[in-house]
Amino acid sequence: MERNSKKEIWFVTGSQHLYGAEVLKQVAAHAATIVDTWNAEAGFSAPMQLKPVVTDPDAILKVCLEAGASPDCVGLVVWMHTFSPAKMWIRGLNVLSKPLCHVHTQFNAAIPWENIDMDFMNLNQSAHGDREFGYLMTRMRKRRKIITGHWKSPELQAELGTWIRVALGWNEMQHLKVARLGDNMREVAVTEGDKVDAQIRFGTAVNGYDSSDVLRYLEGLSGSAVEALMEEYEAQYVLSPELRKGGEKRKSLEEAARIELALQSFLEEGGFGAFTDTFENLGNFVQLPGIAVQRLMAKGYGFGAEGDWKTAALLRAMKVMSGGMAGGTSFMEDYTYHFSGSRSLVLGAHMLEICPSIAAGKVSCEVHPLGIGGKADPVRLVFDGAAGPAINASLIDMGNRFRLLVNEVHSVDPEQQLPKLPVARVLWDPMPNLSVAASAWIMAGGAHHTVYTQALTTAYMEDFAEIAGIELLVIDEQTRMRDFKDLLHANEAYYQLFQHGF
Ligand code: MN
Repeated sequence: MERNSKKEIWFVTGSQHLYGAEVLKQVAAHAATIVDTWNAEAGFSAPMQLKPVVTDPDAILKVCLEAGASPDCVGLVVWMHTFSPAKMWIRGLNVLSKPLCHVHTQFNAAIPWENIDMDFMNLNQSAHGDREFGYLMTRMRKRRKIITGHWKSPELQAELGTWIRVALGWNEMQHLKVARLGDNMREVAVTEGDKVDAQIRFGTAVNGYDSSDVLRYLEGLSGSAVEALMEEYEAQYVLSPELRKGGEKRKSLEEAARIELALQSFLEEGGFGAFTDTFENLGNFVQLPGIAVQRLMAKGYGFGAEGDWKTAALLRAMKVMSGGMAGGTSFMEDYTYHFSGSRSLVLGAHMLEICPSIAAGKVSCEVHPLGIGGKADPVRLVFDGAAGPAINASLIDMGNRFRLLVNEVHSVDPEQQLPKLPVARVLWDPMPNLSVAASAWIMAGGAHHTVYTQALTTAYMEDFAEIAGIELLVIDEQTRMRDFKDLLHANEAYYQLFQHGF
């Protein structure tokens, strides 16, 4: 499901008339060179669109209004090549509705020691021009990203590339529709939340449906489509013997394929990018969707189990941010622990719904009883998650704000085989260790459901929280419980004072 093909980032250079036409011509030429070079070499996920140099309040207002009105523009990169008196920017910034990244760079890298004169000084003023602009944005309490460095440097391009991916994810969230099939798992607290507040904050619309809304798509299903999907299963996964042609559970595989096709049609026709279900509201589903959910996640849909719409929406946004990157991204749950003196680990899994994008090695397709929900045995994909660095991210509703909690982890290969565990799983070592990580996570109210990703790092979540204007808490190698508690207290006060954030 590709929806970002036409998106773009606008590059806006600020200046003023004081320098005369000749200098402004050079400013425009330099901006064009930067944009052309980035588009050719930086590998950004969305192209950079050069906008005319702005030198007065009307031009600034115009570009900010146009950015807001453009469905293709997902963010602005702004740079003051020269000095641009920042009061000129107030009207524009007041109406700007797209994410803003302030790239603090200058055209030349080194000082031309031999040749530097006052003409050069007049042209290359970002060191103070960007400070004037920064003051105004800070004074206006504008949330934005600041990146400092030379525009050709791989470090700056990588940082900007991260922000562009996050801007694409944010844009997706602004238009995202989440379908909830059934309500919340009864009496569960953390998967609940204020859907109106979420729509105001993230733009995401969350609405309820039931099994009949999905299963009516079964009526139009052709037998050949179901056959073709089962053949795809055979080609991609190792089917357990009872699911193969002539096997005694072949019917379960057929039912799973029918559910997948119906679910996909329902999502496509409704324009949904994410969905939830719950084993307590399955209605006329014959089995809890297992392989269907897993494969739809692999195609880019967001998903949350037990009605968890916040995780479903976050997963979709993170799927968009990580589009085309190495490493998978999945719905996840902290399931059980391996306490051990040297290194304690978390086994992450779910009843069924882990995305095969995080799989290492073979993926098998199996059918087993579920034990809860009272439905037929669901077909699911079973695999081990790949080893390597990853993060777990949890979005929770604190009542007066949304909090994004991130734990950096290192996934490892299982110490032994798990021959009797009939679900996909991944084993990780949470930073700084399980003792601190779990205590801090619980103290922060982090959910048992998360988005687990090996593609994105904390840097992406930091940019995301900044754009969304929500609280971010990170548990990493540096986390100490005493400091973390102080941070919780400080944030509590901050968000009471500034209910809508900066
Ligand atoms: Mn769960």
